[in-house]
Amino acid sequence: MTLKVITNDSDVSKTGEFPCNSCHTNCCKEYVIFVNAHDTYRLSVGLGMTPESFLEIYGAKDYDLGINVDEGLVDLALKQKDDKCMFLEESKDIYRCTVNDFKPSVCKSYPFQMKNGKLIQMSEKMCPVEWNTKEFEAMMTTHLKKDNDEWKFYDKLVLEWNATNKIKKPLSAFLKFMLNRVALDFAKSG
Ligand code: SF4
Ligand code: SF4
Repeated sequence: MTLKVITNDSDVSKTGEFPCNSCHTNCCKEYVIFVNAHDTYRLSVGLGMTPESFLEIYGAKDYDLGINVDEGLVDLALKQKDDKCMFLEESKDIYRCTVNDFKPSVCKSYPFQMKNGKLIQMSEKMCPVEWNTKEFEAMMTTHLKKDNDEWKFYDKLVLEWNATNKIKKPLSAFLKFMLNRVALDFAKSG
């Protein structure tokens, strides 16, 4: 069976075949996808949902790090269905990300990372072919910097929340606090 992940990325290589087009493995099936404040904001707005209902339907809460809420300590991650991301849709052996336009940053980053200021591919990646790093350098370097900033933003929010809310509050209260801050951040950056 040939698995393909269809993307609509306008930035995709024009010179070679986009590696995802001939993918026989599937990163969308393999990993738990953790999301930060900006990811949650973009996904819930993109799907026309409130963040609370988005996370109720799509959010996995069975992790034990991060936010101190009355459910316990949680990280935000996407739920899986049949051992794959809930947003992966299959039709006739073709797999498609149904939230491609606003998918989580980690999905956009894979399989790239920065090391000592240089863009490299992860050594243990699932991609069946090598990516042309040079071809993706400008796009991925910009994206990974933004991704890094957004995770730092999220980490700070969690620290602030945990420091100022000694009495545990529900996840929905944290989400409200988090989303307000992201909206302010977007308004500031225009
Ligand atoms: S959000 Fe899209 S790209 Fe990310 S794991 Fe799910 S299906 Fe794959
Ligand atoms: S494993 Fe690599 S080639 Fe396959 S869908 Fe994921 S990013 Fe694309």
